[in-house]
Amino acid sequence: MPRESKRAKRERAVEVCRRMGELYPQVESALWFRNPYELVISVLLSAQTTDAAVNKVTPELFRRWPDPESLAAADVAEVGEVIRTIGFWRAKAEHAVGAAQMIVADFGGEVPGTMEELIKLPGVGRKTANIVLNKAYGVVDGIAVDTHVFRISRRLRFSDAPTPLACEQDLLALLPRELWGPVNEQWIHFGRDTCTAHAPACDGCPLMDLCPSCGKTEGNPEKKKR
Ligand code: SF4
Repeated sequence: MPRESKRAKRERAVEVCRRMGELYPQVESALWFRNPYELVISVLLSAQTTDAAVNKVTPELFRRWPDPESLAAADVAEVGEVIRTIGFWRAKAEHAVGAAQMIVADFGGEVPGTMEELIKLPGVGRKTANIVLNKAYGVVDGIAVDTHVFRISRRLRFSDAPTPLACEQDLLALLPRELWGPVNEQWIHFGRDTCTAHAPACDGCPLMDLCPSCGKTEGNPEKKKR
């Protein structure tokens, strides 16, 4: 592909977002939650685990520890027993209890509503914080870059950054702020439906005329890093 001007790349990115909006006009979180507390804990548990697996453990988790106060006082080993079917359950049990303790001690029992405060919670990075801000408080302060957003950004040559954090900064610089909100959910759906990690369905892909990687599978960049 010939060198692309910044302006052309930006226009291509905006058009990608427009088509994603047509493809996925109403996307819902696959994670089950009823309030900001359940959301932050569920997203924290979902790292490197499917949302379906998280949804299997959270009903019992939130039945036993229905609010930050109860989880803050929970025994980490007991929490671990409840979530032990998901990946990295030991560390996640520690993070969940630690996050609840900080929510109680430092934020009056309310999940904080700013990026700066959220990323202080154990186990909460920018990705989790972006999702919580967006879904719990309607605040768009960034783009949550998960494995799908990361892979698609690289295939579309919107970013060649080596990490999701750096990829987020590339996307924020490329896209107008008003387009940030739906990127995470829409691109996750697209990454599951069409631009999958190992066998992207380039034939018939609605972005094929916008995609420099069409027909040239690069594989999953996260796999290459291992
Ligand atoms: S053309 Fe292929 S690589 Fe490009 S976005 Fe579509 S499925 Fe992904």
